[in-house]
Amino acid sequence: MRTVIRTNFDLCTGCSICQLACSERQTGGYNPRLALLKIRHINEGLIHEPVVCRQCRNPYCQTVCPVDAVGRDEKTGAIIINRDKCTGCGLCAKYCYWGAIYFNKQDKVVMKCDLCGGSPACVEECPTGALELVKVRGDIDNG
Ligand code: SF4
Ligand code: SF4
Repeated sequence: MRTVIRTNFDLCTGCSICQLACSERQTGGYNPRLALLKIRHINEGLIHEPVVCRQCRNPYCQTVCPVDAVGRDEKTGAIIINRDKCTGCGLCAKYCYWGAIYFNKQDKVVMKCDLCGGSPACVEECPTGALELVKVRGDIDNG
């Protein structure tokens, strides 16, 4: 079983509390622009859709990385970046269909959601239940 964040766009109000919580936990500052999840505002702002990493079973980010810097956390099943190996080439970000990888200008490496080790701040802080932590089928060792 793997753990993933399920999004319920019909419950999302676009408040961005999840992004504030994520940026604080992952980067140490309250700034939605630094968050590792995004919110798409569509249909003239009628719909707010959280966009999160799918922790894919067959992740393109891992497939295209030329230096084997993308791996999987055995405990949670989250796809994680090895900062010591990452060269910042950006290929993983280019090939992620969901746009779930972000460039860290300061450290010149990429960052992505690692599920906060299994207890994501965004899920904990979302006031409406638009983000849910769920278990899905799929052997984490299968990629
Ligand atoms: S970063 Fe993109 S390709 Fe990689 S696991 Fe997440 S959604 Fe899939
Ligand atoms: S940016 Fe880093 S993790 Fe992404 S493909 Fe390049 S070396 Fe691999």
